Amino acid sequence: QVSGRVLVCDSIDRAGIDSMKRAGLAIDYKPEIKANELVATVKDYDVIVVRSRTKVTKEVIDASNAKIIARVGVGLDNVDVKAAEAKKIRVINAPEAASVAVAELAIGLMISLARNIPRADAETKKGNWIKKDLMGTQLSGKYLGIVGVGNIGRHIGRMAKAFHMNLIGYDPYPINKEFISETGMIVTDLNTLLESADYITCHVPSTPETKHMFNAERLAKMKPTAYLVNTSRGEIIDENALYEALKNGKLAGAALDVFEVEPPTNKLLLGLPNVVCTPHIGAQTKEAQELASIVIAEKIIQILRG
Ligand code: NAD
Repeated sequence: QVSGRVLVCDSIDRAGIDSMKRAGLAIDYKPEIKANELVATVKDYDVIVVRSRTKVTKEVIDASNAKIIARVGVGLDNVDVKAAEAKKIRVINAPEAASVAVAELAIGLMISLARNIPRADAETKKGNWIKKDLMGTQLSGKYLGIVGVGNIGRHIGRMAKAFHMNLIGYDPYPINKEFISETGMIVTDLNTLLESADYITCHVPSTPETKHMFNAERLAKMKPTAYLVNTSRGEIIDENALYEALKNGKLAGAALDVFEVEPPTNKLLLGLPNVVCTPHIGAQTKEAQELASIVIAEKIIQILRG
């Protein structure tokens, strides 16, 4: 048994809440909590649990006595990690919980692009039989460029092998050797990947180095028949440059789960017929949310046990 007060600021799966309760923790579940209420009440809690909605700003951290800030998911973009570290608050996340969910979505987006599924669906439901316009392409035999070969990048690589795709990978840090020998991935520099891939899927973190990694110059290196898929973070693509490339036929299409501003405001980009969009649903599966909440609960209990 452990003791402590936990403030859950965003909606999270019950499984983790139940296991924290069983361990003896007192839980306040406030998935709609506003920023001012958070600042006013945060001092009463040992643990602050968030997903992506709540911003754990320096102001929140300064007002808190917490030992742990827990993000049920991966990205720590909504937590001021530096401010937390300065107060010796542990910041934890569940980096692997969503890997399968995001990789499956990326595969789904690739097939959506290859077969024009969103347009086929919309037109068929309107009563338009546009079969002749819907000549697609196959994933089999195509080169998939994976930019950022971490957890998610490796999951999508294994899945893509089942579709008989060839893998090309770029990562400035060492890539898991077993994965390379298992999949036969060709490891290259970014320019070679851009020039040779039929599909490019991005799985990099959001950092100063990855901001606008896909700018006009890099997009111009891609094949005009290639597709770009982004399920990582919106900032890595210069959306205006992507719009120009797609509009001018320099790129066949793009599928985006994440945007520079969310919800996206770039109407020109969203209005293009060769763009497929989803509202940041990469991690939005029952299984991933349940796993993330269980993993976070276990980490919290372990840390509080000391
Ligand atoms: P990870 O840390 O396991 O992998 C990231 C990889 O990117 C690492 O191998 C790292 O070496 C590499 N990398 C770092 N800088 C790079 C650079 N400049 N160029 C190329 N590669 C670089 O992370 P992950 O779990 O695979 O997550 C990847 C991304 O997916 C993150 O941005 C994460 O926020 C995002 N994500 C999105 C959703 C969603 O809902 N769409 C859900 C979960 C994760």
